[in-house]
Amino acid sequence: MSDLMPYDEAVEKFDPVFGLEVHVELGTATKMFCGCSTVFGAEPNTQTCPTCLGWACPAPCQWSTSWASRARSGSASR
Ligand SMILES: [Zn+2]
Repeated sequence: MSDLMPYDEAVEKFDPVFGLEVHVELGTATKMFCGCSTVFGAEPNTQTCPTCLGWACPAPCQWSTSWASRARSGSASR
């Protein structure tokens, strides 16, 4: 005997949220929404900025250098 919840009850009780993480090799020189390079084979997390990381900020370019530097060095994490 299965302990599965009926589909209709599950949909009523829960709000399913799905996310996708996509890894692709772009054929462009930069990303779509910022000027970060897309050079294949670069060190991980070296071609990022607040815009492409999705950090909320009305003007990410004003403080991107300090936050990006901290994120790369790991000092931004606790
Ligand atoms: Zn970027």
